[in-house]
Amino acid sequence: MGLLGKNQQVTVHPRLGAVTFCRRRGSKHIRLSVSPSRGLLLSYPWHVSLAYARSFLEGHEAWALAALEKVKERHQNRPALSPQETEALRLRAKADLPLRLAAVASRHRFTYNRVFIKNNKTNWGSCSGVNNINLNLRIMLLPDHLKDYVLLHELCHTRIKNHGASFWALMESLTDGKAKEYAKELRTQQTFKDFYRSP
Ligand SMILES: [Zn+2]
Repeated sequence: MGLLGKNQQVTVHPRLGAVTFCRRRGSKHIRLSVSPSRGLLLSYPWHVSLAYARSFLEGHEAWALAALEKVKERHQNRPALSPQETEALRLRAKADLPLRLAAVASRHRFTYNRVFIKNNKTNWGSCSGVNNINLNLRIMLLPDHLKDYVLLHELCHTRIKNHGASFWALMESLTDGKAKEYAKELRTQQTFKDFYRSP
């Protein structure tokens, strides 16, 4: 479905905000819908005039206000990425993170088995018992030094499977003593602090 065509007109309604009027060939009914990014969309059949479409909207203002409110609420409770953004990020992550992981590994002489890009809600990364490394695609949203911190963290788990003193000693030795500082910084990454704990 094309969303931006010649037969679209966006107006700003005093109470409802942006409203896209969309005249559609083949459409039989007037239809009012709402999206978090675009606001209200009113599509109407070819034989209906824009003036009539506008009066239809006036007659449904209360419904539209309630629908906008509901969508806004739902939107606030969602993770910050839309499905499209997530897929775009996944492509970037697949192109970038395996190479980056290989570089960090060879710099510090780690080996691992396979690497997977995931989109889970509870961690930035994980390392399995057979040293497969899972990386969250949202690592792409971190600054470079924190990207490398997460990768190094998972690589250290190929040798030490817990977060005990020896794990942190290894991490500190490989980060010029900045591992704890980076861990703390990662927790303050405002974008996802509600969704992610540190790895
Ligand atoms: Zn860990």
